[in-house]
Amino acid sequence: MTDLIKNFNSFYEATECPKCHSNWNDGDIYEKLRSNILYKDWTDEEVIKGANSYGWTKEKPIQFKRQIGIELPYNDQRHYDGVSYWQCPDCKTTWDAFTGEEEKIVDVTNLPKIDNEDYEHGGEQ
Ligand SMILES: [Zn+2]
Repeated sequence: MTDLIKNFNSFYEATECPKCHSNWNDGDIYEKLRSNILYKDWTDEEVIKGANSYGWTKEKPIQFKRQIGIELPYNDQRHYDGVSYWQCPDCKTTWDAFTGEEEKIVDVTNLPKIDNEDYEHGGEQ
């Protein structure tokens, strides 16, 4: 475990990968929303309100993050209602959110796509 990441909170707050040192900062939340075409018709006040919903304030501006929080499914014995693992989107290194130890875990950014038709049929018995 590196000094950069010692516990759950610092994984969430980390701005770079402790392994490959890629940048985990995905930009100021207000700026990202303001420049997003989806919100082009929003007033600055509305965008600020949207940014506030992520915890962003003018006094304490925060950034979107790129690190991937992994939750285990409900049917997993180790399920916890929150992030159990953190993964770097670039080098795919994965850490246990509680111990900070590296884990061997599937690359969640490269999972096979779910075939919606199969999924729907699977739901009917
Ligand atoms: Zn990395």
